[in-house]
Amino acid sequence: MGKTTPRNSKWMRTYNRSLILRLIRLHQPVSRVELAKETSLTKPTISNIVNELKEEGLIVERELGVSSGGRRPIMLELAASDRFVIGIDATQRKLHGVLTNIHGELLHEAWHDERFDTNDEFIEAVVALYITLARATTGDVIGLGVSVHGMVEAREGVVLFAPRFHLHDIPLKRELETRLKQNVFVENDVRTLALGELYFGEAIGIDEFFYVYAGYGIGGAYVHGGELIDGKHHIAGEIGHMRIMLDGPICSCGNRGCLEAVAGERALLNEALQLNDELTLETLRDKVKNDVQIRALYERAGEYIGIATLNMIHLLNPNRILLGGPLFSYAPHVVENIQERVAQTALTIDARQTDIRVVAWNADHGALGAAALITNQLFREIQ
Ligand SMILES: [Zn+2]
Repeated sequence: MGKTTPRNSKWMRTYNRSLILRLIRLHQPVSRVELAKETSLTKPTISNIVNELKEEGLIVERELGVSSGGRRPIMLELAASDRFVIGIDATQRKLHGVLTNIHGELLHEAWHDERFDTNDEFIEAVVALYITLARATTGDVIGLGVSVHGMVEAREGVVLFAPRFHLHDIPLKRELETRLKQNVFVENDVRTLALGELYFGEAIGIDEFFYVYAGYGIGGAYVHGGELIDGKHHIAGEIGHMRIMLDGPICSCGNRGCLEAVAGERALLNEALQLNDELTLETLRDKVKNDVQIRALYERAGEYIGIATLNMIHLLNPNRILLGGPLFSYAPHVVENIQERVAQTALTIDARQTDIRVVAWNADHGALGAAALITNQLFREIQ
């Protein structure tokens, strides 16, 4: 699987810079000697990149108190930053936005819930929320990340289809960059959540994992070598549309028997409505703990998500599986179903011990993940 990008000198410099920043983030505080050992880069190359990162204010030096004889080692770590990022979660009609520093610390949040029905009105809503958040600081805002549900072409920042809003082909990045004179990145919601975990959450310290989201819908994202894997047609990791039943219920995508159509909360709610036609998503979640029939629905969902997770382990053999989203937090026994399935039936002893953990879920994750889109870019680009 060779990279198709030509390995010219700019590409190599970008690659080496992002590699060194990543190693500092993973192992900080870390010395130049350790970086040289880890990367096989020459000392002058390491020195040049470290100087560049110091000048940009991304990293700082710190002298350690303990010495093993001779000079005290100078260690490198990420700098506390006075640069700010705005992340907007545009996955629901009520948009949620956060102002953070580049390390994902939440400084301010705001919401926008004016109705939008067209692409232009949607863009207006994002602009309005950005302006509200930008007013909360006098510091330097270096970028806007936007998380959108549905299909997103991230390179051009085009929302191809956002079914919940009935909107198609929104050139979001281009329009926002023109309007705001700001650096903008747009990405699919679940992929954004995975990036949030990579920089700020349960994947700090590792850079290869598979993220499974389960709530009203089901989605997935694969991070390898610290990068989101996109795929030729931007659908890599779409575990929610992994077909898992031959003649299952019809899915939101139009196919039958997708994981989302049998185990997502929309599907569970539809089934539960046949037991009690007054249920809503909220009351359904309330009843998971005490209502035997509803608990059984979630348990079966856990069996299916467990099978799909097992399939992902056999396909990708990731270092870690992260389970994020409201379904796992409202129904923790679903997590046990998944862990048991993998522990009992994965192909090898090592695979059975795959690290599967739950992301402590809260409603800030979407917007924080959107902010991580900018941190991600900052850690990669040559300025
Ligand atoms: Zn589907």
